[in-house]
Amino acid sequence: MNLTPFTDPPSLMGKLIRGIRKTCSRCGGGKLFKNWFTQFEDCPTCGLHFEREDGYFLGAMMVDFAVTELMFVIVLIVSLAATWPDLPVARLTILLVVTNLAVPLLFWPFSRTLWIAMERHFYLKSHQDP
Ligand SMILES: [Zn+2]
Repeated sequence: MNLTPFTDPPSLMGKLIRGIRKTCSRCGGGKLFKNWFTQFEDCPTCGLHFEREDGYFLGAMMVDFAVTELMFVIVLIVSLAATWPDLPVARLTILLVVTNLAVPLLFWPFSRTLWIAMERHFYLKSHQDP
């Protein structure tokens, strides 16, 4: 359902900025989520249907996983550097477990909009805008 002719920003960075702001990759419109974990099926502004095919959001899960593991490594390195050589193993373990539980939940909607932005950037290089 195309209500009006919206266009994506031409650059990947422009699309990623829209993604990190949780706005539509194509029109920049906001309010794409009913709540933190539930995304509307279509953009309320331009009508872009987000899930083009079954399994589409596996890429968003991959983005969420990559960011989570990146945060895990950053927290680990900073913690090791701050406490070396007297490592508080129990507290460090709890901190890392909390990091691995919290980051994917907090980053979930951003991972979806970032995935849409990345996927649209590369999809539109070889396809017509659906
Ligand atoms: Zn839109």
